[in-house]
Amino acid sequence: MSIDEYDVVVAGAGTAGCYAAATIANEGLDVVIVERKDAEEAGHIACGDALKGADAFPEAIPKSQLEPAFTNTGVDHGRFEIPQEDTVLEIPVPGELAVIDRWEYGRRIIEGAENAGVDFHYDTVINDVVQAEGGRVTGLRAKRKGDQRTYEADVVIDGAGSLSLLQDKADFEGTTFDTNVRYSQFCSAYREIVEVPEPVEWDDALVFKATDRAAGYLWYFPRTATQINVGLGFQMNE
Ligand SMILES: Cc1cc2nc3c(=O)[nH]c(=O)nc-3n(C[C@H](O)[C@H](O)[C@H](O)COP(=O)(O)OP(=O)(O)OC[C@H]3O[C@@H](n4cnc5c(N)ncnc54)[C@H](O)[C@@H]3O)c2cc1C
Repeated sequence: MSIDEYDVVVAGAGTAGCYAAATIANEGLDVVIVERKDAEEAGHIACGDALKGADAFPEAIPKSQLEPAFTNTGVDHGRFEIPQEDTVLEIPVPGELAVIDRWEYGRRIIEGAENAGVDFHYDTVINDVVQAEGGRVTGLRAKRKGDQRTYEADVVIDGAGSLSLLQDKADFEGTTFDTNVRYSQFCSAYREIVEVPEPVEWDDALVFKATDRAAGYLWYFPRTATQINVGLGFQMNE
């Protein structure tokens, strides 16, 4: 078993993990991101590809580094089609909106964090949280190709996504915040990137269509006029 010591250890190489780690590295601290995916697959995250607040990226990984991943900056509103009510709502989105190539974006935030001096440990699956007496989190346990590793750090940041294992493993007895997020409180979604033979009707909008079930919706987000991110979302209690 090996032990790695850092000032800060961050779980997960998504947007949250990369921005947190880059911000910390820019302050001159030693920081590592522990990511379960391999170096090729990291940053590849299923997503709707619509980016709100595209003008508000923190300087830790500046927008200029991410812009090559923006495929459509001409979108400026949401279009909600509700056939049951014979209604269409066109709602402007304030600030900058972009539809992105999520794979390219994921690669670029990782590159941005690397440039800031963040270490990456890929292929490393976190399987436990280390807590000192009194409950303070002091590290993580993880497995890399059969080898058990322990990460010790002054600060541990959970950037492992909405179903993070860290939340299950940490003993939150005595905490004052609500940790009881139930499965039924999640939404779930399926999406694909589709090439269409004809340009879509709305290439300047994020298009949502209500399904017959109250808590479901279809969407398409135009990466270009002929390449769309199309998906279906629904609440888990439906
Ligand atoms: C179908 C779908 C469509 C969406 N559409 C949009 C959209 O259009 N616009 C938008 O803004 N958001 C959208 N979202 C939400 C968006 O994807 C998330 O909010 C965002 O990815 C959260 O970022 P994150 O960094 O917190 O976590 P994530 O992006 O989930 O990253 C977590 C990282 O942690 C790693 N990890 C997890 N567990 C472990 C472990 N045990 N050990 C090591 N590493 C681990 C994962 O491999 C991953 O790399 C969508 C989500 C889905 C599922």
